[in-house]
Amino acid sequence: MPNQPDVMEKLVSLCKRRGFIFQSSEIYGGTGSVWDYGPLGVELKRNLQERWWKAMVRSRSDIEGLDSAILMHPRVWEASGHIGGFVDPLVDCRNCKKRFRADDPRIKGTPGTPDAQCPACGMKGTLGEARQFNLMFKTFMGPAEDSASIVYLRPETAQGTYVNFLNVQQSTRQRIPFGIAQIGKAFRNEITPGNFIFRTREFEQMEMQFFVEPGTDMQWFEYWKEERMKWHRGLGLAPDRLEFHQHRADELAHYARAAFDVQFDFGGTLGFQEIEGIHNRGDFDLTQHQKFSGKKLEYFDHASNKRYVPFVVETAVGPNRTLLALLVNGYREESVEGEAEGRVVLGLLPALAPIKAGVFPLVKKDGMPEMAKKISDDLRKAFSVFYDDSGAIGRRYRRQDEVGTPFCITVDGESLSANTVTVRDRDTLKQERISVDALKEYIGPRIVE
Ligand code: ATP
Repeated sequence: MPNQPDVMEKLVSLCKRRGFIFQSSEIYGGTGSVWDYGPLGVELKRNLQERWWKAMVRSRSDIEGLDSAILMHPRVWEASGHIGGFVDPLVDCRNCKKRFRADDPRIKGTPGTPDAQCPACGMKGTLGEARQFNLMFKTFMGPAEDSASIVYLRPETAQGTYVNFLNVQQSTRQRIPFGIAQIGKAFRNEITPGNFIFRTREFEQMEMQFFVEPGTDMQWFEYWKEERMKWHRGLGLAPDRLEFHQHRADELAHYARAAFDVQFDFGGTLGFQEIEGIHNRGDFDLTQHQKFSGKKLEYFDHASNKRYVPFVVETAVGPNRTLLALLVNGYREESVEGEAEGRVVLGLLPALAPIKAGVFPLVKKDGMPEMAKKISDDLRKAFSVFYDDSGAIGRRYRRQDEVGTPFCITVDGESLSANTVTVRDRDTLKQERISVDALKEYIGPRIVE
C-alpha cells in the first residue's frame, strides 16, 4: 500500500494550466520527456537553485563556485568511464517495437528466449536479447561529421569540476579540505524516462565536489550526509517523506567507497525515490584524469609537507526532481467552511513561492484599483507580486492559493481613508488589517527563510 496519495496527474494539469511547466514543442506533438518551465516554474526553479547556491557557496568560505561548459574534450568521458560504462541494458520487442530496460520488473522470463513475454503487447518470444545502450548524447564538433569530430553532451556536471580542480585551487589559494560547486544542464538518453519531470532526457544538476585528505573522507562523508538532509528538511519537505537509502555493496558504483541517497516519497506506486546522491568517490576521478591527460592533479600540503591526490566526497542533487518533490509535498485539497467549493493549495515554503503576494482591489471602483496598483508597484521593488482585479474576490484568493502565494493583500472601502489593507495568510486564512506603510516590514521577514 502506498504511504501517500498519487497526485501526479493533478499536478501535470495544474502546472500546465497555471504556467509552471509545459511539454517541450507541444504544438508539434511534444518531444519525448523534455519539459519547458513557464513563468511560475522558472521562478520556483530559480528560487530553489539560489537557495542551494547560497547554502553551498555564498555562505561558506570553503566552497568555490564554477560554471564549466557542457561540451568537453571526448577523452574526458573515456577517463571518467562513461564511454565504456555509462550503459543500460536495452531490449526491443519485434512485434510492437516498444523498448524496455532489460531489468524492467514487468518482463516475464529472460529476454532473447521463447518464453520471455513483452510487457506491452503480451506476445511471447518477441523480445530480443539485451544489448548495451550508452546513455550519452553524441554530436559533432566542426563541419565534418566523422568519428574524429564526435563530442558528447555531458551526462553530469562533475567532470567539469574534476578537470578544473587545480585551476580553482590555485586561483583561489584554497587549502584542503575545500569544495567546488556548480549548477548546470546535463543530458542522458534515458531508455525509460517518465513520471513528468522526475526522469527526463535534459535536466539540471547542482553538484558539489569536496576535496579532502585521504583518511578523512568518511568523516566528511558523514558530515555532508547530515548537512544535505538538513537542507532538504529546510525546504519544507515533510520529515516522514524523507529518508536515507544506503547503497549496498552490490549497488555501489565501481569507484564509490560509500554512497547514500536522500529519498523522497513521491506517493502512489512511485513511492520513495532518490532526489540526491552523496558519494565518497575516493581518488578515482582525479587519478583517472591524471592517467588520461598526463597532467598531475596533486595537492601539496605545506603544513604536513605531503603531496597527494585528494579524495572526493560528492553531493549531487537535481533541481528538477526536487522541484517535483516540492510540488508533490505541497499539493493539498481542502474544504472551506461555509463554501460549497473547496480549494487547492500549494503549500510551498514562502521563500520558494514564485509569487510572494497577490494585490487586489475589493471592487473595481472608488479609487481602489489605483491604490492597489500603487501598492503592487511599490512592493514589486522588494519581491514578486501579482496584481489581479478580475472576478470575485474569493476566486482571486483561490487562484493564488493554487500557485502557492503566501499572502494576499486587499484594498477595501476602509483602505482609502485609513491607509490600511487586509493581509490574508494562505495557510491559516486569517486576515489582519495592516497599515500600507508597514507592508514591507510585515511581509519581508516572513518570506526569507
Ligand atoms: P537515477 O538512479 O534516478 O537515474 P542517478 O543515481 O543516476 O539517478 P546521479 O547521477 O547521482 O543520479 O545524479 C544526481 C541527481 O540528478 C539525482 O539524484 C537526480 O535528482 C538528478 N537526476 C539524475 N538523472 C536525472 C534525470 N534523468 N532526470 C531528472 N533528474 C535527474
